[in-house]
Amino acid sequence: MMYDLKAVRKEFPILERTIYKKYPLVYLDNGATTQKPRQVVEAMTEEYYNVNANVHRGVHFLSQQATDLHEAARETVRRFLNARSANEILFTRGTTESINLVAQCFCQAFMQEGDEVIVSEMEHHANIVSWQLVRQRMGIRLRVIPITDEGTLDMQAYEALFNERTRIVSVTHVSNVLGTVNPVAELVRIAHAHNVPILVDAAQSVPHMAVDVQALDCDFLAFSGHKIYGPTGIGVLYGKESWLDRMPPYMGGGEMIKNVSFEHTTFNALPYKFEAGTPDYVASTGLAQALDFVTSLGMDNILAHEQELTRYAMEQMQTIEGMRIYGPHDVNIHDAVISFQVGQIHHLDMGTLLDRLGIAVRTGHHCAEPLIRRLGVEGTCRASFALYNTKDEVDALVAGIKRVQQMFQH
Ligand code: PMP
Repeated sequence: MMYDLKAVRKEFPILERTIYKKYPLVYLDNGATTQKPRQVVEAMTEEYYNVNANVHRGVHFLSQQATDLHEAARETVRRFLNARSANEILFTRGTTESINLVAQCFCQAFMQEGDEVIVSEMEHHANIVSWQLVRQRMGIRLRVIPITDEGTLDMQAYEALFNERTRIVSVTHVSNVLGTVNPVAELVRIAHAHNVPILVDAAQSVPHMAVDVQALDCDFLAFSGHKIYGPTGIGVLYGKESWLDRMPPYMGGGEMIKNVSFEHTTFNALPYKFEAGTPDYVASTGLAQALDFVTSLGMDNILAHEQELTRYAMEQMQTIEGMRIYGPHDVNIHDAVISFQVGQIHHLDMGTLLDRLGIAVRTGHHCAEPLIRRLGVEGTCRASFALYNTKDEVDALVAGIKRVQQMFQH
């Protein structure tokens, strides 16, 4: 064991909760959001109590201290992703806003009617609808990489989608439904071989494995703070300076300008050009604490622990009659997310009854309707793991599923 699981769980007070006054909480909805360790909440409380002041604009002591914290957080993110420069780290509200920013600003700068963007069949709605909004306005086209029956990207079909109108690729690193870990470095290599940049939706990968943007060589990468033990309302867009420099601002307001007159406005340098208005400078501190927290445990240790849990869960779940697990069964390409269905039991019934046993899972289409349709189902139940989950919790899930199944047999 690479970290002390018991001690780590103590850092998350919510894990000690009892549900319906009876059952210990078994929280397996980490793909939706993760719980927060003390160090995140305490640092944010401390900042509100003792530092709070608006950043960047003040000459006074508190404002400068708040600014230092905010910019130190940006540096923490830079280090975490191994970006070349802090200018490449933009704070947003989350993955959704990060993708929308690229869709809007990249298209405005580099795309014309009839140009194409490649996405995949396993995208979250955030990475579909953002492009569709631009499509409506600009007449661009969406091309879709199909998935195989195993739940992996069809790489041959991907290569075949490129043509002289392809301007950008936007794909997820890890599917939030199937758990599939896509071969991002290979996706990037192929895109670049066609001189096309690529955005990686890392919402479901960054919390689980080391992600190095220079090693991947991706052009943009998006993730959310709340899925990596940080606060809600903050996320990151990494973008290579060479692209961001040539893109127009996303929103107008304070902070993103150099000079303003009614006739003409000039924009601020990176990263501020994309950060209009007062940023959530307390959340950036929380995010930095969360990244420090996972770094201190070791991303490789977190990955190893979660892979072991995923492997164990798949083995145990497969002993249940009528169990169907979606996505690849090889844990080397299957991250800490397991989507399943049992016999004819509706996913909503399964989720609701598991909840009555204190087990939190997600049900439904998981904001990926095209993928759910491709799987030929109406929805699935999804258990997703985090660094603090245990084998005992997997056992509780398996026992819970069996109990629900028995209820339906009588
Ligand atoms: N992409 C993926 C793959 C996701 O799983 C999610 C969250 N479910 C998002 C994007 C959107 O993240 P957020 O709601 O934090 O913006």
